[in-house]
Amino acid sequence: MSEYKYSTLAVHAGQHPDPLTGAINVPLYLSSTFELTGIGTDRGWDYSRAGNPTRDRLEFALAKLEGGYSGHAFTSGMAAIAAMVAMLKTGDHLLCALDVYGGTVRLFNEIIVLYGIEIEYVDMSDLALVEKAIRPNTKLIYLESPSNPRMVLTDIAAVAKIAHAHGVEVGVDNTFMSPCLQNPIALGADIVMHSTTKYLNGHSDGIGGALIGSTPEHKERFLLVQKAAGGVMSPFECFLVLRGIKTMPLRIKQHEENGRAVAEYLSTHPKVQKLNYPGLKTHPQHELAVRQQKGFGSMLSMELGTRDNCAKFLAALKIFLNAESLGGVESLASHSATTTHATVSAADREAMGITEGMIRLSMGIEDKEDLIADLEQALASF
Ligand SMILES: *Cc1c(COP(=O)(O)O)cnc(C)c1O
Repeated sequence: MSEYKYSTLAVHAGQHPDPLTGAINVPLYLSSTFELTGIGTDRGWDYSRAGNPTRDRLEFALAKLEGGYSGHAFTSGMAAIAAMVAMLKTGDHLLCALDVYGGTVRLFNEIIVLYGIEIEYVDMSDLALVEKAIRPNTKLIYLESPSNPRMVLTDIAAVAKIAHAHGVEVGVDNTFMSPCLQNPIALGADIVMHSTTKYLNGHSDGIGGALIGSTPEHKERFLLVQKAAGGVMSPFECFLVLRGIKTMPLRIKQHEENGRAVAEYLSTHPKVQKLNYPGLKTHPQHELAVRQQKGFGSMLSMELGTRDNCAKFLAALKIFLNAESLGGVESLASHSATTTHATVSAADREAMGITEGMIRLSMGIEDKEDLIADLEQALASF
């Protein structure tokens, strides 16, 4: 199936008609258990935590879309990250990019650290720092590119090269880009993670996560974690994500177009003190974005000076909704310091450069002129 182009894959990978009825949509198999055909024999499924026919279809599609060996669907993005780090054991060293999703930092610093796994944060836009931080017990490098919310890129191919020279695996949270715009495995990464809550589902009506592995060992390991720890995606959620995937390439086109138009508009606005969007030629890593990504996405962050300016701006918006999350059809604006990064200490936030004056925008698929007009009137409120 991989000989097909992306939009075709999105509609058809894992989504072939039901062999029993010819239904062109993947049936929703709401069954916890499956009749066995004898002792120790079955029709491919025995219990839905271990495997479910609807989930199988989604997992197949995810593997195809990311160019991986196997896909694994979890109950949330965080459950997927927890499943990835379940590969580690006491004494292992996990090297994490400096400004990853706030929930990831919470998981690592409040839970994973309790298992005696050493966690170290490094600015991965500086490759020399990555190389220097690798120790004999380093097992996994975990990163996001672009990062949240500063939109700092990491050269995935370069990090993978350094990591592999030391026998270390690389996991990439690809949520911000979607599988349409960046494929970390093709760039050399070993494992891809997605919060399907975002672009894959795309309609802000579900929570889910995924891991895509690149080897038979990953498949075996992630299947075990699914079965043993049990944080698997429900069949209904799988159905929603499968439906979302069909229109993902089309949605991403509009998200992207809006991202570029809004960034261009904000780039000359006198009240926007700083704008972080890799699509701008002035972004310090624009060249890397062109090389590594198939587009610039629809996420950006900007500096409005103070928390009070942000409050006025958010209150004045009419189309953009003041809400966390991203990747849905509706445009969202959020104050990073008090939402996604609220549990990160003020000192750590400062080290990451996430200020009280920072606003993150997720462009939806509305008309770009309406979005720009909304931003214009909201920026006039302070
Ligand atoms: C939302 C998000 C997550 C967490 O996913 P959930 O589905 O909310 O558990 C992880 N990483 C990134 C980049 C995200 O945006």
